[in-house]
Amino acid sequence: MRLKGKAAIVTGGASGIGRATAIRFAEEGAKVAVSDIDEAGGEETVRLIREKGGEAIFVQTDVADSKQVSRLVQTAVDAFGGLHILFNNAGIGHSEVRSTDLSEEEWDRVINVNLKGVFLGIKYAVPALKASGGGAIVNTASLLGLKGKKYQAAYNASKAGVILLTQNAALEYGKFNIRVNAIAPGVIDTNIITPWKQDERKWPIISKANALGRIGTPEEVANAVLFLASDEASFITGATLSVDGGGLTF
Ligand code: NAD
Repeated sequence: MRLKGKAAIVTGGASGIGRATAIRFAEEGAKVAVSDIDEAGGEETVRLIREKGGEAIFVQTDVADSKQVSRLVQTAVDAFGGLHILFNNAGIGHSEVRSTDLSEEEWDRVINVNLKGVFLGIKYAVPALKASGGGAIVNTASLLGLKGKKYQAAYNASKAGVILLTQNAALEYGKFNIRVNAIAPGVIDTNIITPWKQDERKWPIISKANALGRIGTPEEVANAVLFLASDEASFITGATLSVDGGGLTF
């Protein structure tokens, strides 16, 4: 029960890494506000948590919308009496095309969800974390925030931004006992990689292109997030933890 008595928000909690982490947090004793734009998936995560005896609510939220993120934090604080953990995880990919062929609309949406969404989470959660005596923020970056990949211009830029936003927030809020870290997953078996899986030529290469020779599971990422969110990581802030089986090797 490493998160006993803690209240947490998980964005992008309707599937994949967010769902696995929301369930893991609840197993360790946290009360979890699951948020996502996907209502059905988010409610299903809540059901899975309650089925195991955990405590959770669903708050439908678009992380790119300032008012909705502010309301998410307020709803969690009202429901749980405070806030100790924020997992800023919602994210999207984009068309696999060169920058010159990427539409401005797609660029804006990816930056707004993946990067501005993390900024808004920090902006509205920090006052609530301060009021609870401190806490932990974990942001989902990516291996593709550390390394460039062809046809990933907006995704590369958004996730690299998340890594420095993490360091910035760690410096600004350390004095309030708020730790801010990032995870950098490699290829993880979730909906976001469906387009890669459908590429019969590249998938056999991509799916084995790390030191361990396999893709990761959402649960393996959830364990890393749990560590960073828990008191076991009490002297770790501003860090980016790779959870990538050893990184892409091609
Ligand atoms: P996923 O598609 O299963 O989950 C993403 C979730 O985010 C979905 O439930 C989706 O509805 C939600 N979402 C999308 N836009 C949103 C918005 N505007 N507001 C709120 N929620 C929104 O994929 P996943 O792999 O679990 O993705 C989670 C995070 O992990 C993302 O930030 C992604 O970029 C990152 N990531 C994934 C991988 C991978 O290989 N799966 C690798 C590196 C990083």
